[in-house]
Amino acid sequence: MDNNCIFCKIINNEIPSKKIYEDDDFLAMLDIAPATKGHVLIVPKEHAETMAELSDEKLSKILVLAKKIINAMKKVHNFTDYNIIQNNGRLAGQTVGHYHMHLIPRYSVDEVSLWSPHENDPSVTSDMAEQVRKLL
Ligand code: AMP
Ligand code: ZN
Repeated sequence: MDNNCIFCKIINNEIPSKKIYEDDDFLAMLDIAPATKGHVLIVPKEHAETMAELSDEKLSKILVLAKKIINAMKKVHNFTDYNIIQNNGRLAGQTVGHYHMHLIPRYSVDEVSLWSPHENDPSVTSDMAEQVRKLL
């Protein structure tokens, strides 16, 4: 628990939320400012700022839970397509410093925009690939 963390306060029931799921490890709730109708956040109860700090145990469970929740959401909202998004760090758009995963239903008309593709530079990308491969 981090005393300054809004999601820790929600987990601790100090701040209200629209919870849709809870178990020993995770809480899922409706996003207070949804990107689209039905936008859900899955929040591990363990306070970790970004993915790299979250335990492997919780990381290995969260996608399985995401699948379960998405399948339930599909029965309530009229969607088939969705984005699973997870921002790590301020430059990546993270505004709450407690790891969370966004489940965002997509509709034929919505205002979600992810990124714009750029031209590939083969010399840079092959060098990067080689450098990263050596570290794995
Ligand atoms: P991110 O920008 O990836 O850190 O996402 C943070 C998300 O948390 C945003 O989509 C916010 O709308 C959402 N959020 C912030 N405060 C609350 C809250 N009290 N209850 C539910 N969602 C929240
Ligand atoms: Zn926290």
